[in-house]
Amino acid sequence: MKKHNFSAGPSILPQPVIEQSAQGVLNINNSNLSLIEISHRSKDFVDIMDNATSLALELLNLKNKGYKALFLQGGASMQFLMTAYNLLENKAGYINTGAWSSKALKEAKNFGDAIEVASSKDANFNYIPKNYEVDSNLDYLHITTNNTIFGTQFHDIPDVETNLICDMSSDIFSRQIDFSKFSLIYAGAQKNMGPAGTTLVVVKESILGKVSRTIPSMLDYKTHIDKDSMFNTPPVFAVYTSMLTLEWLKENGGISNIEKKNIEKANLLYDAIDNNELFNGFARKEDRSLMNVTFNLKNQEHKNNFDKLCLEANINGVNGHRSVGGYRASIYNALSIDSIKVLIEVMNELKRTI
Ligand SMILES: *Cc1c(COP(=O)(O)O)cnc(C)c1O
Repeated sequence: MKKHNFSAGPSILPQPVIEQSAQGVLNINNSNLSLIEISHRSKDFVDIMDNATSLALELLNLKNKGYKALFLQGGASMQFLMTAYNLLENKAGYINTGAWSSKALKEAKNFGDAIEVASSKDANFNYIPKNYEVDSNLDYLHITTNNTIFGTQFHDIPDVETNLICDMSSDIFSRQIDFSKFSLIYAGAQKNMGPAGTTLVVVKESILGKVSRTIPSMLDYKTHIDKDSMFNTPPVFAVYTSMLTLEWLKENGGISNIEKKNIEKANLLYDAIDNNELFNGFARKEDRSLMNVTFNLKNQEHKNNFDKLCLEANINGVNGHRSVGGYRASIYNALSIDSIKVLIEVMNELKRTI
């Protein structure tokens, strides 16, 4: 029996996607060849890449708006430095909402003046800073829309005069926002889109080519735009599986439909946490993430018991990150509401047993 998979990343993918992806490894498009043994220049794979980039732009409603979608390697972590390499000339601002934004800021400092515009470090990142000033002279402002580790999320995307750059690794394709507010969005595939090994970058072409430094080819967005993400051999399996997830999302009503389900799932789980006197939520209520639900037992004496009940109920991956402790249920697009109900039932069961 499949487990209820609350893993933070790599994480749950739709079951039909896993099956199709496995089939592609065995025999892609009835070619009697495996996806992973054909040329990335073959029509079979070029079509996959075209379809994947086109679906990404379509789902984000960014088609014909001056954006390019790229599938790159090096993870979101590579984007921490690539964004700054390509875009930081004088000064860039960062909203520090957790471990990932801190790392992005650290990398940017290699390329110029990168400042922390606001931070929620004072409360172990359990909220999203508000009411900060953004200097319009910044080359860009960088935010992390969803903080995977701490379970907070920007519910209002800041309006800024400068370019808005965003790490959307753990909430891309999960909710409807005006994606055209961003000049660049990046997201490691392994949270809500596919297996590890590729990173989606959606970039507005007009922001590129403005820095004075020389950028090595592999780290220059223009290289990858010019070569349609095939400057070097792309991670074919990761791109193919991501394409299948994007197709699945489109067939299931796109972002607006999945958002409704995500809200329903998150509300159900947060209500269960709030209504169970054994548990506390970690993030401030108004900033709670729809994707990563962080919570803890008020009394650690119940930990062994709760862990045992989770195991018995086939629940996987609810341990919190070491920097927060407690529990984290990652409830990405592919996780069904039935899995949420199983977790809630276990929480209620714990209450009954003590
Ligand atoms: C997981 C994650 C990362 C790191 O991604 P890698 O692909 O492992 O480099 C960065 N940012 C956020 C928000 C994440 O959730």
